[in-house]
Amino acid sequence: MITEAIERTIDQNLIEAARNLIDRYNNIVVCTHMSPDGDAVGSSLAMVGYLRKKGKNAVVIYNDMPGDNLRFIPGIANEMVYDPQCQPANNTREEAEKAVKEAECFVITDLNVPSRLGDLGSVVMASQAPKILIDHHLNPSETDFDVVISHPEASAASELVYSFILQMGDDALVDKTIATQIYSGMMTDTGQFVFASNRPQVYMIVARLLQEDFNKEQLHRDLVLEPERRTRLKGFVLQQKLQIVREHKAAYFSLSKAELKRFNHQKGDSEGFVNMPLDISGIMVSAFFREEKNIIKVSLRSKGEYPVNLLAQKFYHGGGHRNAAGGEFLGTLEQAEQLFVKALPIFDKFL
Ligand code: 5GP
Ligand code: MN
Repeated sequence: MITEAIERTIDQNLIEAARNLIDRYNNIVVCTHMSPDGDAVGSSLAMVGYLRKKGKNAVVIYNDMPGDNLRFIPGIANEMVYDPQCQPANNTREEAEKAVKEAECFVITDLNVPSRLGDLGSVVMASQAPKILIDHHLNPSETDFDVVISHPEASAASELVYSFILQMGDDALVDKTIATQIYSGMMTDTGQFVFASNRPQVYMIVARLLQEDFNKEQLHRDLVLEPERRTRLKGFVLQQKLQIVREHKAAYFSLSKAELKRFNHQKGDSEGFVNMPLDISGIMVSAFFREEKNIIKVSLRSKGEYPVNLLAQKFYHGGGHRNAAGGEFLGTLEQAEQLFVKALPIFDKFL
């Protein structure tokens, strides 16, 4: 019952094309997007675990360190991380580059354009080794990859990794660890199965994963655990930083470098903050501007038909999904915020 409904998710011709590559090559490098989130980590770890079970010499290289909040995902500590901002880096640039250069084949999850690979992206894309993409973002850049498995309707790239394994005929290789990794990715990308998860297949896959007997309740608890400094920063944002533009059903806030320092902000600490204003009744769109070393990082969220991916594309050199997008801004926090407020009227038709 379960398999019949889900085993046709991916075009079987693409599965066969990927199978040819995976059968042929031994050294396989798995990559995902920079600033990896739960789905990036879950999909890449599940993929590398699966490839190892098939006897491959496979590694994941993270282009930067996954946040401490994702440490509950099993296996994360054993993979390569090349993070130029992490002192000391887990792996040196040389080590990461060596692994990339020795790769005979790449599997890339949870991104649609090479620029999302981050710092190492240019080395990956310079490699002649074939590249398999497994992703759920809109508009993948088809020409950059050799096999493009793209399903924007999927809840998570992790969900697609399960479909991939199933359609490869390897369902039996899904063990407790792989099941936990896939579930973690689906759980995080759907806000614990709140959004992007109405397709019955999502729960059929969850039902299959639960056969591996992992502790689902514990994963949900681990996901929301946070250090005290994050709780306090959240309070600061809600109390002192949040701006509401009622006329356009919008909310936004920013955090400067000084503010982040004051709260001893560590990577991942403010992840998800941008969702908070959407809980205010009448608010349809939310923006978070975070001052980083040389740029302003922009995170956007919305409800319903409101296309924040268009807003990100048009104003912040970014993109993403209709209800979750992001980008970057060169300038001051104030300028980034002003641009948002100025852009709002254009999107009133989606309210
Ligand atoms: P977040 O707000 O969590 O950083 O990103 C949400 C989503 O927006 C990501 O999953 C990704 O699809 C998209 N996104 C975030 N930042 C960027 C960016 O700089 N460029 C592009 N193209 N997409 C981004
Ligand atoms: Mn994802």
